[in-house]
Amino acid sequence: MNKKETEQFKKKLIAEKAELEAELSSVGQRNSNNPNVWEANTGGMEVDAADENEVADKLEEYEGNSGIVTQLENQLIEVDAALTRIEKGTYGICEKCGKPIEKDRLEASPSARFAIKHPHK
Ligand SMILES: [Zn+2]
Repeated sequence: MNKKETEQFKKKLIAEKAELEAELSSVGQRNSNNPNVWEANTGGMEVDAADENEVADKLEEYEGNSGIVTQLENQLIEVDAALTRIEKGTYGICEKCGKPIEKDRLEASPSARFAIKHPHK
C-alpha cells in the first residue's frame, strides 16, 4: 500500500473515530479518571424509588445504554489500533500471516486486522 492510500484510510479512520465518540457521547460519558473508558448514562437513576415502574424503566434504559457503550467502545479500540498500525507502518497487513489485506476489505472495514481468506480470531 502506498503512502497516498494509507493517508486515505487514515482519514476514514479518523472520521470513524469521531463518529464513534459522538455516538458514545449520546449514551454515555468519559470516566473522569480515565478518559479512554466510557460509562453508560444512568438515564437519571435519582428518580423516585417508590415508583417501581419508573425505576424499572430507568434500569432498562441503563442496561440498553450499557450494551451500546460496550459495543461502541470495542469498535473505538479497533479504530485506535488501526491508527497505531498506520503510525508503525504495519497497516493493511494481516496480523496472522503477514500478507496484505484485500483493498475491498479495508474499504468496507478500515480497521480490519485480518485478510478475508484468513479471518483468525
Ligand atoms: Zn492471514
